[in-house]
Amino acid sequence: MSYQADIEADIIIVGAGVVGLAIASEVANEGRDVYLLEKNERFGQEQSSRNSEVIHAGIYYEKDSLKMKTCLEGNSLLYELCEKNGIAHRKCGKVIVATNAAEAEELEKLYRKGKGNGVPLRMLSRREMVQLEPNMSGIAAFSSPTTGIIDSHALMEYFLDKAKSNGAQVAYGTEVVGIEKVSGGYIVEAQDPSGASSLMTKVLINCAGLYSDKVAEMAGIDIDEADCRLCWCKGEYYSVRGGKNKLVNRLIYPVPMTISVGVHVCLDIGWRLRLGPLFYYVNEISYQIDDSRKRPFLESSVMKALPFIKSSDLHPDTSGIMAMLQGEGEGFRDFVVRHEYDRGLPGFINLVGIETPGLTSSPAIARYVSNVVDEVFGN
Ligand SMILES: Cc1cc2nc3c(=O)[nH]c(=O)nc-3n(C[C@H](O)[C@H](O)[C@H](O)COP(=O)(O)OP(=O)(O)OC[C@H]3O[C@@H](n4cnc5c(N)ncnc54)[C@H](O)[C@@H]3O)c2cc1C
Repeated sequence: MSYQADIEADIIIVGAGVVGLAIASEVANEGRDVYLLEKNERFGQEQSSRNSEVIHAGIYYEKDSLKMKTCLEGNSLLYELCEKNGIAHRKCGKVIVATNAAEAEELEKLYRKGKGNGVPLRMLSRREMVQLEPNMSGIAAFSSPTTGIIDSHALMEYFLDKAKSNGAQVAYGTEVVGIEKVSGGYIVEAQDPSGASSLMTKVLINCAGLYSDKVAEMAGIDIDEADCRLCWCKGEYYSVRGGKNKLVNRLIYPVPMTISVGVHVCLDIGWRLRLGPLFYYVNEISYQIDDSRKRPFLESSVMKALPFIKSSDLHPDTSGIMAMLQGEGEGFRDFVVRHEYDRGLPGFINLVGIETPGLTSSPAIARYVSNVVDEVFGN
């Protein structure tokens, strides 16, 4: 049986965020027709451009989880990539600081967890705390020297250029609206301003971020049975003005007392200082923020560690929304990166719940997916 398709592809990737771009840069080569379909007019307009731009070290995640493994691998791959290709970054390190006895107890546990994950960490003496961060107050802290910051836009541009120079084609303003499993692959229905088109592909990779559960559903997966229905979690940032950025030397994080890492110091490459993200679950996508959540910022643990930041220094800045598998009050959930052949979908590679540390993990996830793709093509 033959199918009518406007384009015949070897690989279609849905979504040009940092993960889709990283994968495109790995799987594209001269012998393959690779298409990257993105519903927005530009790449990286959703999670990938609305985050803290931290190169995480791998401290927080369950041992041997995909989050832990891809974060550690991604951390070293990113530094290597940045050095080689002139991508702006800074291995500034971070400290995690406890401001009371209960936090100090949790700090100790987190330190052991991070060490157990193989992350280089160092418990600090009081004297070292003062030496590293003279303006910080706290009763105990450890440092993570391999944490850093990166220009995420420059990283995405690098992946995009590499993918294109290896022959990948990128279609912006092109939304995937339907997927049909056919013999030898998938028919992907896409909608762009000029109308509808259909593309035939052998391999289909779902990197649709906030909508990746919907794309999985289009491919025929029962997302409730597969336990991969997403929740959306909004994180708000406040900028800190008044020259206070000169009073911090590295990233400063609180001890996570809930499931999130907590409101922390964010610094970009230009050393602009923000606090955030303050997370809460939402049902709609709106990036608008006002100062109605200033109080939780003022009450957050990190503010106790940074007594030089006053309420009048804080101004609502940006926000981002994260694709979470973990619902409110629920425990750890790992990334889903899965070749769905056992659900009768050979060649469908499904990525769902790629929340933090997805930016850090992106080059490692791309390598992992590239190996799966090679297996599908029998390379
Ligand atoms: C507030 C916040 C802070 C974070 N901080 C960090 C951090 O400091 N360090 C870190 O490592 N990670 C961090 N993360 C996580 C990181 O940003 C994400 O894991 C990463 O950006 C996910 O990339 P992605 O490509 O999977 O998703 P996205 O960037 O969301 O890209 C998905 C793309 O798919 C497209 N798409 C969706 N549906 C369709 C469709 N049907 N057809 C075509 N295109 C479609 C979307 O338009 C989008 O461009 C943070 C995230 C947030 C929200």
